[in-house]
Amino acid sequence: MNGWKLFLLTIALSIALIGCSSSAGTGDGTGETDMGDASESEDKVRVTTTIGQIADAVQHIGGDRVKVQAIMGPGTDPHVYRTSQGDISKLEEADIIFYNGLNLEGNMNDMFVNMAQSKPVIAVTEQIPEEQLLEVEDGIYDPHVWFDLKLWQEAVKVIESRLREIDPDHADRYAENAAAYLREIQDLHEYIQERIAEIPEESRMLVTAHDAFGYFGNAYGMEVRGLQGISTDAEYSVNDVNAIVDLVTEHNIKAVFIESSVSEKAIQAVVEGAAAKGHDLTIGGELFSDAMGEEGTEEGTYIGMIKHNVDTIVDALK
Ligand SMILES: [Zn+2]
Repeated sequence: MNGWKLFLLTIALSIALIGCSSSAGTGDGTGETDMGDASESEDKVRVTTTIGQIADAVQHIGGDRVKVQAIMGPGTDPHVYRTSQGDISKLEEADIIFYNGLNLEGNMNDMFVNMAQSKPVIAVTEQIPEEQLLEVEDGIYDPHVWFDLKLWQEAVKVIESRLREIDPDHADRYAENAAAYLREIQDLHEYIQERIAEIPEESRMLVTAHDAFGYFGNAYGMEVRGLQGISTDAEYSVNDVNAIVDLVTEHNIKAVFIESSVSEKAIQAVVEGAAAKGHDLTIGGELFSDAMGEEGTEEGTYIGMIKHNVDTIVDALK
């Protein structure tokens, strides 16, 4: 019996030792890999942004020098967005935070003030001259500046200069990347002008669920109407729907548009209202207003979402 006990004890000890050494081995291996990743990502500038349009610009300018994450994904409405615990971690671990500003991220203002105590928290719209902003009420500006590509170029320049400041060793690379991205935006700006010209002048009216396209209309010569005003936190009324129905009927507008980040209920009501008046109005397609499309698709980039919008609008209205 003693012999057996000793034998079993020996086996048990061996298993324990094998277990120990193998788990220690795995642990060391993982540890090394972790440290490798950590030092590599520590070397990169960690950037957290609110909307995807900003993250996309940061990625273009920063290239492999930055590790970017956007807290608002496809279909997310920034006006009413509330930060989750996961978002707070992303904001906390960032070296620098970029947000749109002009109260687009209305519920996050306290968070930005809080984070600004420990790191740069930058509104990409900070350098746009006040007279180029659309003032909707006293001191309240339309935040959807990415739809005027000339204004968005100003936002891109802010991102470039802030990245150069925080990572001066790679300033040249940021400047080079930014110049290339600004050229791409410039090309798209010209493309929009050409395409909008295809719509008969009297049909250049863009009706959407909320007023995200004021800058677009301003820059490219379209009249724009939204049911909900510049923020989705406002409700629309039956009167708002009726006014839009009258307008599109009167101007014989063929199509209205839904948005990926806003309920399509209001736009459906407009289509039904027009039908009741004998005006054949269709939904011209889905536009990406405040959020980009799914990651990995063309619309999941700023350039792609703008191009998609323009093609959708022109093809439905021309
Ligand atoms: Zn909006």
